[in-house]
Amino acid sequence: MTAYPTIKMLIGGEWVESGGEGSMPVINPANEQEVGRAPKASKEQLDAALAAAGEAFPKWAATPAIERFRIIQRAAMLLRERAEGIARVMTLEMGKPHAQALGETTGAADLIEFLAEEAKRQGGRLVPVRSHSLLEQRVTQEPIGPAMLFTPWNFPINLPAKKLAGALSAGCSCVLKPAETTPATAQMLVECFVEAGVPAGAINLVYGDPAMISEHLIASPVTRKVSFTGSTAVGRHLGQLAARDLKRFTAELGGHAPVVIGESADFERTVAACAATKFRNAGQVCVSPTRFLVARSIYDRFVAEFAARTQAIKVGDASVDDSVEMGPLAHAGRVAAMQDLMGSLGGKKGEVVTGGRAMNAPKGFFFEPTVIANPSADSRLMTEEPFGPVAGIVPYDDIEDAVRIANSLRYGLAAYAFTSSLDESHYLGNTLKAGMVAINHFAVGSPETPFGGTGDSGFGSESGVEGYLGYTETKLVTVAKAAP
Ligand code: NAD
Repeated sequence: MTAYPTIKMLIGGEWVESGGEGSMPVINPANEQEVGRAPKASKEQLDAALAAAGEAFPKWAATPAIERFRIIQRAAMLLRERAEGIARVMTLEMGKPHAQALGETTGAADLIEFLAEEAKRQGGRLVPVRSHSLLEQRVTQEPIGPAMLFTPWNFPINLPAKKLAGALSAGCSCVLKPAETTPATAQMLVECFVEAGVPAGAINLVYGDPAMISEHLIASPVTRKVSFTGSTAVGRHLGQLAARDLKRFTAELGGHAPVVIGESADFERTVAACAATKFRNAGQVCVSPTRFLVARSIYDRFVAEFAARTQAIKVGDASVDDSVEMGPLAHAGRVAAMQDLMGSLGGKKGEVVTGGRAMNAPKGFFFEPTVIANPSADSRLMTEEPFGPVAGIVPYDDIEDAVRIANSLRYGLAAYAFTSSLDESHYLGNTLKAGMVAINHFAVGSPETPFGGTGDSGFGSESGVEGYLGYTETKLVTVAKAAP
C-alpha cells in the first residue's frame, strides 16, 4: 500500500503544513477516495513566498554557474533514487499507470540534468566589431529575476521539473504553484531540490485557489517572469496579467494534434503506434494525437484495426494493478467534458465505432477508449481539443487536402505524419503548421530539444537550450579599450 505524504508548502525555506485559507482534499480518481489534504495559501503566505524569492534572487544569481550545476545535478540524482516511490504517489493522485509514471519521473531527472548543464555552457559571446578594433562587444544572458511557475496535473513531475530546472539553472529564484489535484508529486520533486542544496527562498511551493494565487503572484513587483502550462483560456488570461507590467511570459497551452497517414505508410507499425499513443495518459496530453487524417485507400482498414486495438486496451485502477494500460481521467469534470463531447456527435458530426461511455461503476472517473469515424470538419471533435481518450478519424483524397485540414485550426503544438515517401515526408515536414512535427514516430519531447507551440498553443519553448534561455534576458556590454 502506497503511503501518501503530508502535504506542506515551502515558504522561505520553511515547510508549512497549515494554509491560511484552510485546506483542500486530494482525491484518487480511480476510486474517489480522499488520499490526503493540501493547505490553501492565503495572500499573506503568498507575500512571504514572494519576499523570500525576491531576497534569494541576487544571491542565487551570483552563485557561480558550476555550483548551481552541481546542486541541480544532485537534485536529479535524488529524483532518480526516489523515482519508484514518487511514481506510486503520482498514480494515487492522478491515475497514471505505473510504467508511465515511472518513465515520466526518470525522464524528469534527465531533463533536470540537461538544464543544469546549460548553466555551464551558456557563457555569452563576443561579437566582431564593425568600426575599429579598439572596441569589445560582449553579449551575455542574465537571469531575469523571480519566476512564477504554474503547472497542471497531467504530467505532475515532468512539467514542474522543466520549469524549476530551467529557472534555477539560469539563476532565477521561483515560486511554484502546481495543480491542486497533484500536490504530492510536486512536493516530492521540490524536496529533491531542497535536499540537493538549493538555498532557502530560491525555491518556494504553494497550493490553493489557482485564480487567486496567479493573480496575486503575477501582480507583485517582485515577479519578473511567468511560465504557465495549461489550457489556452487560462493561458490567455495569465498572459494579459503578465503583459500589464511587461513581465516576460512563456505559455505551453493546448493542442489538437493532426496525424497525416499516407498510403505508403508501414500500415501495421503505424496503426499500432497510433492506438498506443492516443490513449497514453487517457489522452490527457497536450501533444496527444487526436485528428487522424488517413488516405482514403487505406481508411476503412485503418479504422477497423485502430478500433480493434482500442478495444484491447486494459482500463482500470493502476494504483492496485500494474498491468493496467489506461487509468481514469483526472477528475469528474473531465468525464463530464467527454460526455458533453459525445452528445455533440451524430449525423455528419461523427459516428462512434467503439467506446463513447463513462465507466464509473462502482467508483472512479473512467471513460472508455473511444474511436469516432467520419467527424465533419466543423464538428466539435475536429475543432476543440478533447483532452481525453477520444480519437477522430477522417479520410482524405490528396496530400494537399490533408495539410489543409491539419492546418485549419488556431492550435499549433504538435503534428505527426506517417509515410514511406521521401517527397511526402519533406512536404509534410515543411508545410504542417506546428511547433513540433514528428514523422514516422510520436516522440516530440526529449531533454535536448525545444518543446513549444505556435498560435493558440502558446509561445516560448521549454527543455532544450531554449528551456534555459527562457529564464534569461540579453545584455550587451561594449567597452572601448584604451589606445596602446
Ligand atoms: P482547468 O483549466 O480548470 O485546469 C487546468 C490547470 O490549470 C490546473 O492545473 C489548474 O490549477 C490550472 N489553472 C486553472 N485556472 C488557473 C488560473 N486562473 N491561474 C493559474 N492556474 C490555473 O481545466 P481541467 O478540466 O483541469 O483541464 C482541462 C483543460 O486544461 C483542457 O482543456 C486542457 O487544454 C488544459 N490542460 C492543458 C495541459 C497542457 O499540458 N497543455 C495540461 C492540463 C490541462
